[in-house]
Amino acid sequence: DTTRELLLSRIRDVRDYPKPGVVFKDITPLLADPRAFGALTDALADLCVKHGATKVVGLEARGFILAAPVAIRAGLGFIPVRKAGKLPGATLSQAYELEYGTAEIEVHAEDLNAGDRVMVIDDVLATGGTAEASLELIRRAGAEVAGVAVLMELGFLDGRAKLQPSLAGAPLEAL
Ligand code: 5GP
Repeated sequence: DTTRELLLSRIRDVRDYPKPGVVFKDITPLLADPRAFGALTDALADLCVKHGATKVVGLEARGFILAAPVAIRAGLGFIPVRKAGKLPGATLSQAYELEYGTAEIEVHAEDLNAGDRVMVIDDVLATGGTAEASLELIRRAGAEVAGVAVLMELGFLDGRAKLQPSLAGAPLEAL
């Protein structure tokens, strides 16, 4: 439809970034266009409402840029999931595998509780490792997963398949 065309037209392919052979999907042209950024915010906020979310988690760093306006638009709280060592309070952490080595993400333990239904928002689903780790965090905090919503899914990396077990029936929405 027209929203999809608008969003697609504002995503730039950058070859050989961050390393040779990779085509990076750059969303900065989309963010620089208020009509496209607004349409994206509206579409993601609609998904939060549709799936009955009560909180919005954004994944550092580009997920923050999208999830913050979405949370306000949907009338929900914004909860940051950050790289290890950045949050000042008591945290839950989750390690996950990267292509080389491991990474770790954290959330403030008091931000997610039983009774919360959480929508996870990020710009790109690639291998699914980051989103999978965030779903583990949400469940370990005692909260429920409302779903994962991303601007783009890189289908050839099959993150959707990797994510299925931790989604446990919750939707993965890619605009
Ligand atoms: P995954 O854990 O699914 O492999 O990687 C997803 C994370 O890496 C997301 O947080 C996303 O921001 C980032 N990422 C991976 N590939 C791309 C890309 O081509 N473009 C953008 N904008 N982000 C990417």
